[in-house]
Amino acid sequence: MKPTELLLQYSQRLVAEALARRDELAAQLRGMEGEVEGHRTQMKGHERELMSGRIRSPSDLTRMSDEVGHMKARLAEEEDAELEVMSALEAADAELTGARAELEEARAEYEAALPGIRRRLQTLESEVAELELQRAGIWADVPPPLQAAYRKISRIPNPVVAMSGGQCEGCRVQLTANELQQLRRGERFTCQNCNRILVEI
Ligand SMILES: [Zn+2]
Repeated sequence: MKPTELLLQYSQRLVAEALARRDELAAQLRGMEGEVEGHRTQMKGHERELMSGRIRSPSDLTRMSDEVGHMKARLAEEEDAELEVMSALEAADAELTGARAELEEARAEYEAALPGIRRRLQTLESEVAELELQRAGIWADVPPPLQAAYRKISRIPNPVVAMSGGQCEGCRVQLTANELQQLRRGERFTCQNCNRILVEI
């Protein structure tokens, strides 16, 4: 795979990850906001009750006042936590913006590289076509008995092997003097043991 394509895929993954992080923080913040809002309303209600003058008993007033104090402390903690998530969300937003800018760059680079890749592919395709023509030409020059022998054994690995020192390099069997003579006279061209076509080198 081309480096530009790899870079593009990598940038796409970074954007997806940044987006997931941002969405997760945004959902977390929405949940917190709802909760804080509920607690704030509750605290305000208690505060109004405390100030209304309807509560006469000193012990009730103390209890109510303590309760409002606790609620305010909890609310302050919750608001701090909310601020932390907000700033994490801002950072995630900035990260997402950066990742998207990098993705755009990678996409532009990839698109700029495409014509070159297509040209290279065309060159390779015409080279393949040229080689196939050459191959067909060479095959046409191969004597028919050899063509037939090749077709028969073309499924085995290395159907054409060298023979050196009177030995078939396909199966490593030593040819007899008689076989060697037949080979030299052109009366046979395959190994009697493994049927591979022998080429003397
Ligand atoms: Zn052999």
